[in-house]
Amino acid sequence: MSVDRKKLEALLDWYKQEIGENLIAALIVNREGLVMTALKGISESNVEEDVIGGVSALVEPVLTRITKEFSSGSFGTGTFDTEDQRFIFCEAGPEAIFVTVLNSIAMVDPVFPYAYLAAEKIARIFDGRTVSPVIPKLFTDNKTQYIERKVEKLQKIKIQSREYAFKLILGGEGGVGKTSMVHRFVEDSFLTDYKSTIGTSIMKKECEFQGLESKVRFVIWDLAGQAQFKRVRQTYLANAEAGILVYDVTREETFDSLENWFKEIKSVSPAISLILVGNKIDLKEDRVVSTEQGEELAQKLNLSYIETSAKTGENINDAFKMLALQIIKRFVFTEEV
Ligand code: GDP
Repeated sequence: MSVDRKKLEALLDWYKQEIGENLIAALIVNREGLVMTALKGISESNVEEDVIGGVSALVEPVLTRITKEFSSGSFGTGTFDTEDQRFIFCEAGPEAIFVTVLNSIAMVDPVFPYAYLAAEKIARIFDGRTVSPVIPKLFTDNKTQYIERKVEKLQKIKIQSREYAFKLILGGEGGVGKTSMVHRFVEDSFLTDYKSTIGTSIMKKECEFQGLESKVRFVIWDLAGQAQFKRVRQTYLANAEAGILVYDVTREETFDSLENWFKEIKSVSPAISLILVGNKIDLKEDRVVSTEQGEELAQKLNLSYIETSAKTGENINDAFKMLALQIIKRFVFTEEV
């Protein structure tokens, strides 16, 4: 089967931009540990032409170990440190492993969500499915997401979420597209003309990740049309583990009200994992809130940020996956091999 190499390269280029100077190299290797596509990073200390060659030699002994697990089906994700480099390995479908090589001083955690999303997209490219090579901008909280560094030890990451379902709520003004996002995610449909539902509809949807043994099961509560009633809202927001704050990029007032939504949600469900979403990006001409404004607010509130269109479906799955990743991180435990 021929793989769309241009797409793979575009994806790696994007990845390089997002990770920045700590990236030494990003490699896609096959099950046998052979490098299929590689990209040199922008780190100044590694400008030699043969860095990829050197890195593959370094990766090889680790890969031998990993590919063994890989073929037995038990491999998902791993990190590995040497004196000069840190490696992140992510399974990318049945064919490939995505390897990220970082400087030894780099934090693995902020890179982790990007590596996952990139691996997912690589898997899709190998499958010949359509995929946008753009990875959404993520903001991570370095303190809470720090995974302890263990030199010379391969770690397997597992999650405990198998038995759990997480209550997911949506915050934001009326008409920003909350219900549409949920419909797009749960049923992959966009209803152009429907009446606001009365009361709360509850839907279930699982988020699966390539290479992870567990799934994140969301129970999505959609409070269509009733958000103006404070009492209903409090019940709706209570005991939620996950939440999406949504605004409409074509209406400034929906953006301005987000901090209040944030405070209210946090006061009712303090331990909630939240992300910020700017929706309706298909309406390019009408846009009044810029990406930079969205990112700024996200940084201020310490949230990941992504832009979506429930109409075209752009980034909708990634938004929910981003949230699922945050949930996974909260339930992550590491196990030495
Ligand atoms: P909610 O009140 O926040 O749940 O918003 P709805 O999902 O009911 O959407 C409000 C209106 O915006 C509906 O007419 C939707 O069809 C429309 N809408 C939602 N998302 C998008 C989008 O991404 N692009 C466009 N063009 N319209 C959208």
